[in-house]
Amino acid sequence: MRYLLIMFFFIPVTFLNAQDLTKGKNHFVIDYLLGEKEEYETPCYILISDEEYPKVVIDACIHGDEIAGALACDSVMKYINIYKGTVVFVPKVNIKAYNTFVREVNVDLNQVFPGNKESTLYEDRLAFDFMKLIKELEPDLVINLHEAWTRFNEKLYQKQKDKSFGQTIITNIDTFPVFLTNTLEKINSEIKNRENIFRIQYFPYKPNHSMDNIIEKLKVQSYTVETLRTLPIEERVNYQITCILEFLEAAGIQFTFIK
Ligand SMILES: [Zn+2]
Repeated sequence: MRYLLIMFFFIPVTFLNAQDLTKGKNHFVIDYLLGEKEEYETPCYILISDEEYPKVVIDACIHGDEIAGALACDSVMKYINIYKGTVVFVPKVNIKAYNTFVREVNVDLNQVFPGNKESTLYEDRLAFDFMKLIKELEPDLVINLHEAWTRFNEKLYQKQKDKSFGQTIITNIDTFPVFLTNTLEKINSEIKNRENIFRIQYFPYKPNHSMDNIIEKLKVQSYTVETLRTLPIEERVNYQITCILEFLEAAGIQFTFIK
């Protein structure tokens, strides 16, 4: 009988910080907290170059278990070098739900916008603070990263407009803006597996949705990216990265991204 020597490797847990993200870069990074000292306190990273505009906000994990967007944000923050403009990342909007890998803790965050500062439900208060953050930042564009269980299907979509979002970019404008159709074309030109190309999904205005509130109340252009959750995680993260980079470019951010 042989005895095996079991070794335990203690892997240090590293957190992103402004210094790591700024090293050797043209931009600098401001660490910021959304909901500071609240139970939903979550980090934001403001990557800012010499020129403040154009400005884009990328948010992920409004639904805590849709993790591909958060991982894509980490990767883009690490490898991007911004020469012109500002990009703000909020990778884990519902951080409490993210930490326990659930969609929500009390209520669906995406159904309680514009939020309520006085509510006992923290998701109501988080929605309120998130809106406040977007208002203060005054961005040109907000991209919301989500994931869906069902692939987009034209027939299913005709029957039920709130199902089958996988591999889509959602807009609440029924005449698709050229900005969006051009960006979609660029995203899809980078996707080798044609089964997974993105489609534009028109989703009618809903008064409690985050994207609709950003558009209607704050008058900021906003779209939602949905990757298909049944795909392997690396693939979903790569699709999210592609979407982030193409939207940044379309918005006029000047950058390089070298992985
Ligand atoms: Zn979602």
